[in-house]
Amino acid sequence: MRYKPNYAPGPTEVRENVRLARAKRTNNSDFDKTFVRYYRAVSQKMGKVMGTTNEVLLLAGEGILALEAACASLTEPGDRVLVLDNGIYGEGFKDFVSIYGGEPIALSFDHHSGIPAEAVRAYLEKDSDFKYATLVHCDTPTSVLNNVAALCPLLKEYGILTVVDSVAGMVGEPINVDANKIDICCGGTQKAISAPVGLAIVSVSADAQKAMDDRKTPIASFYANLQVFKGYAEKEYLPYTTSAGDVAALDAALDNILEEGIETVFARHDRIASAVREAAQAYGLELFLDSDRSNTVTAIRIPEEIGALRLQDHLSERYDLLVATSLAQYADVILRIGHMGENAFIDKLIYVLAIIDNGLKDLGFTGKGDLAQLFIESYKENK
Ligand SMILES: *Cc1c(COP(=O)(O)O)cnc(C)c1O
Repeated sequence: MRYKPNYAPGPTEVRENVRLARAKRTNNSDFDKTFVRYYRAVSQKMGKVMGTTNEVLLLAGEGILALEAACASLTEPGDRVLVLDNGIYGEGFKDFVSIYGGEPIALSFDHHSGIPAEAVRAYLEKDSDFKYATLVHCDTPTSVLNNVAALCPLLKEYGILTVVDSVAGMVGEPINVDANKIDICCGGTQKAISAPVGLAIVSVSADAQKAMDDRKTPIASFYANLQVFKGYAEKEYLPYTTSAGDVAALDAALDNILEEGIETVFARHDRIASAVREAAQAYGLELFLDSDRSNTVTAIRIPEEIGALRLQDHLSERYDLLVATSLAQYADVILRIGHMGENAFIDKLIYVLAIIDNGLKDLGFTGKGDLAQLFIESYKENK
């Protein structure tokens, strides 16, 4: 398979030192104590990047496993769960809740902006009898960013635990798990962390741990069960054999992030994302969102007469370029440019925007000027 660069919102580019880290020899990752200590050190490094001293677990599996494990571990039959929904992943939590016997109650909002905290507060004034609530930090198919700093402490005020899907948010946008009182925060290695696909990340607060300890019924899952990790560090024993190479790769990716400085990483995403948004608008394209746009991905509305799917095919066939459209009802409406982690650098964006500019013009769109050049101009101004 020939290597082909991709500009999708995940999986992202993986830096060479991260790829090579995977190839190193490791100790037995089932029960060697030195490996368990290493795993713990990497999980604490992950916690540092997420802004938490809570236990962070690295599960062998893709990011979806984090979401499922959170819901499997918290949900008991009949539990009422508040599903905050303003996007496709937000709504998707309903399925995880009901599979494990809970009663999902969706509080749905418009998809064109973030969830308004005041509206959630007004709702909770009337009904706050929920064991936990789910929400998505960056709902990738539309690129909307939810204000976890307002929403999670609010839910906590009402005694509701929070499960946050920050798979496509963390590292590109601040998540601050402890400051924002997030009980279970979910991540994946393949987005802004820019490590290979392979680990699901979950942080577990003391309150979330207590909710699992206080369960009256057993967790209805074998592999998506967070409770089996309880006390692993003290016992120096992991419940399952861990994918050691993935842990080593994550370690190297976290070193890259910490070496650059997490604040610098956020600023880099902000500068790139702002320039992409400004350029797209100056060029004559419309952004899908009215506000609350994540710095990890930009969703651009593609004119109906062109169609996002046709543009995607054209870019692939004519220019060998892989970009993402969206999902479900937005599949033919939105083109998404991922600028997460290692993909959030000026060279990458100049390339992808130059090709998109040509592709759009091939299909009859009359853009105002040169999309890549407009990007460079915004990038220069937004120092
Ligand atoms: C990518 C992503 C996940 C992980 O799932 P995929 O299998 O990669 O789709 C979960 N949540 C969000 C918001 C994501 O963007």
